Amino acid sequence: MRARDPKIRNKDFKEVSLGLTEKQAVKEASRCLQCKKPKCVEGCPVEIDIPGFISALRDSDFSGALHVIRKYNMLPAICGRVCPQENQCQGRCILGRKKTPISIGALERFSADYAVKKGNTEKTPKKKPNGHKVAVIGSGPAGLTVAADLARLGYDITIFEALHKPGGVLVYGIPEFRLPKKIIAREIEYVKSLGVKIKLNWVVGRTQTVDELFEEGFKAVFIGVGAGSPRYMSIPGENLNNVYFAAEFLTRVNLMKAEQFPKYDTPVKKAKKVAVIGGGNVAMDAARTALRLGAKKVYIVYRRTENEMPTRLEELEHAKEEGIICKFLSNPKEIIGDDKGYVKAMICDEMKLCEPDESGRRRPECSGKEFTLDVDQVIMAVGQASNPILVKSIKGLKLWGGGYIKIDEDGSSNIPGIFAGGDIATGAATVISAMGAGKRAARAIHTYISSLKKVRKR
Ligand code: FAD
Ligand code: SF4
Repeated sequence: MRARDPKIRNKDFKEVSLGLTEKQAVKEASRCLQCKKPKCVEGCPVEIDIPGFISALRDSDFSGALHVIRKYNMLPAICGRVCPQENQCQGRCILGRKKTPISIGALERFSADYAVKKGNTEKTPKKKPNGHKVAVIGSGPAGLTVAADLARLGYDITIFEALHKPGGVLVYGIPEFRLPKKIIAREIEYVKSLGVKIKLNWVVGRTQTVDELFEEGFKAVFIGVGAGSPRYMSIPGENLNNVYFAAEFLTRVNLMKAEQFPKYDTPVKKAKKVAVIGGGNVAMDAARTALRLGAKKVYIVYRRTENEMPTRLEELEHAKEEGIICKFLSNPKEIIGDDKGYVKAMICDEMKLCEPDESGRRRPECSGKEFTLDVDQVIMAVGQASNPILVKSIKGLKLWGGGYIKIDEDGSSNIPGIFAGGDIATGAATVISAMGAGKRAARAIHTYISSLKKVRKR
């Protein structure tokens, strides 16, 4: 996919990837073999009819392609941009065995963007209102998916969102240069166009409890509050000034526009030499954001090698092109401060890889050597934890792993009428897995409320 010049783009927040042209999209779609048993569909967590939409593209039926995608995925412009396709649909494409797999994500993105460019705002058919209210807590991809699927079935949906903007990690975590805010706003408008109401600045568990929602007449509640609490490494020096938790650092910039301080109220430290610890998408986003804030040197410090990195391949390639320096097989052991309590360096162990651990990745072990990085800011991107505010406020709710909601395959919790999905049930995962969970939960909520009606009739 075409991308902007790395030397220019690493100084601004405009989108990096430029997408496919019509000609490129048709040409790429024409490579598809239209397999009878398409492996790509098995690799997609929401089972989009991939050959179906690609076939429409091949015939230059661009709105037809979007029509097919929307039946399965109501956030195609977002998924086309941020899904880890190389591990999902594209990773299974039969063409990838010998040469290059079809660029399914790029084609999905093209279909969604083309329709908007041409002013095609097709509405999905909706059933008549059935009068049943469902509350959705959290407006990330899980919550938005449940809300849209149930609204299409005629339910009266209200989303309750703690922040002042809807979208979850899509708005506060993933930076503008990867996922422009206007695209998220467009997809949220689409969900609202189905009749979904969104109440902002509403912290369920504090502003209102789940019991109060049931008392208000909501027949079921879906919890999709994500996993946004900080996780640190427990090494000396983590409490020094200029050590950030990645999601906080990103929220300051993405949501609060801290790069424009003092025009906006929230500041962020613009450092010269930054170390970002971690190897996932969050680490890449934090590193590339620090670079755009003016840092001269930005290191990604990761304890394994490039082969084990969980980030999307495209993000790593883009980060390297922009000048991010990767320090592989390096594990921080102490952050050193100056006499005023500000970060001035970080000591790391050099690592070596041993046999694979339970995650299937080769386990890193100290080699006995260490080195010091001269840095004035450290950003921790070593995972997130569940936020206890809501889950602890629901009496008797079964949890696992110290704060994630225990659910069945269909998203139901141990309490009748309470469903959950996305990062709050699985731990930090992906946009599309949160959407897949939302889809399953919407089906389960529909079955649950329909069964309540039957009991009442008897
Ligand atoms: P979230 O997106 O976290 O949304 C939860 C929402 O619930 C939030 O808006 C929150 O404010 C709200 N909330 C919390 N508590 C309450 C409460 N008590 N009351 C009301 N509302 C509440 N995944 C990918 O697939 N590709 C990527 O490239 C990618 N990059 C990422 C980059 C970053 C920086 C981060 C942090 C994550 C990234 N992910 C990526 C992961 C992905 O974004 C998440 O897995 C996904 O957003 C989870 O969706 P969710 O709906 O479960 O929760
Ligand atoms: Fe086309 Fe590849 Fe899917 Fe086969 S597996 S239908 S070639 S995208």
